[in-house]
Order: sequence, then structure tokens, then C-alpha cells
Amino acid sequence: MFVNHIFATAPQLPPMGQHLYEYVIGSNGVFVRAKRPEMEALIWVAATQAPVRGLAEVKPYARLTSRIPALLLARMYEMAYRAGNNEILFYLVPNPWRIVLPEQVQTGVSVRPVDPYAGGANTVVEVHSHHSMGAFFSKTDDREENTGFRLYTVLGNLLTRPAILCRVGIFGHFWQIPAAWVFDLPAGVNDALYPILEYEEIEDASY
Ligand SMILES: [Zn+2]
Repeated sequence: MFVNHIFATAPQLPPMGQHLYEYVIGSNGVFVRAKRPEMEALIWVAATQAPVRGLAEVKPYARLTSRIPALLLARMYEMAYRAGNNEILFYLVPNPWRIVLPEQVQTGVSVRPVDPYAGGANTVVEVHSHHSMGAFFSKTDDREENTGFRLYTVLGNLLTRPAILCRVGIFGHFWQIPAAWVFDLPAGVNDALYPILEYEEIEDASY
């Protein structure tokens, strides 16, 4: 079965079986989780208004086997800057982490690969830029990023203070996470999730 459902009856969840994704119902909400060799994640779908008695509390997480080096992020910022007023799309593939630049159709408000399957199963993180605009996920991004289990990242504010925003996507469910969970952030990059926190505080919250 592609999808499975379990109740969190103990704080330690059982390993996932052979499913693409699995819903977990805990005392504090409904979650969905997925796992692949390079990463695993369990994210919120909905919170419960009051605790469900008899179930364990579930804590969401997102973990990569290794964080993406700052150098790769710096390179993507540089290429995004050179793309001027056009958006640009990158795929990050593992072992070791590297950037794949697919053939793409770029405009000021959108970017898409010429081959819709260019990302392939190897892509763990999909990154696109919003050039001088802010780092946020648009309605178009939601539509285009609603399949499979990946991390999605937007780069923005390239002309002022470079910003970044990351989220986990599990078959159409999204949860924004600190960029420091995914990247070793170069100095000066602002996580749009926590604009008021200093980088060290975000780092502390990561695992
Ligand atoms: Zn976008």
C-alpha cells in the first residue's frame, strides 16, 4: 500500500514499513512521515484542539544524513544573482552533494524545467530563486511542489540581504523548517522563517 496510518501509542514510533508515506495520529495532532536513504521527516498535518487521551505526543522532525555545504549555497546565490530578473531552478543530489542545473524556462515570476521529470528520483532538495523578491512559497510553488518527498528551498532578496526559506514536502503536505537543518549557512544569509533570531539560536534548535 502506498499510504499507511498508525496511532502513536508509545513515544518511540515503530519503523516505517514499505510505504511511500505514513500518517501518524498522536495526542497532539495528525502528522505524516516519509523516509528515503538521505533523509527522513515527520511533519504536521493538523493539530488537535485538545490532547487525544491514551496516545503519545509526537514531535515533528526533518533530518538529512549530512547537511549541504555552505559553498554550494553560495554558488547558487551567485548563479541566481547572475540570472538577473529571472528565476532560476536547481536540484541538489547526494553522495556527495552537488548542484544540477536542469534545462529550464525562466521568467521573472516563474521557472520550470523543460523536462517535467528532469528532477528524477535522485533529487533530494529543489531550490529556486525569487531574485530581488522575498523568500516565500507562492501558490504556484505549492502547485508545482506537491508530489513526492523532497525538501524545497526558495532564495530571495538577492540585491539586499540574501534570504532563504526551506520546507519539507511529503506528497502535498508542507512544513517549513529552519534552513540550518538543511544547509551550513554562509555568513550573512537570513532565514526568512526566523527573521528576528540570530543564526546561533536557530542552530541550537535544529536537532
Ligand atoms: Zn517561487
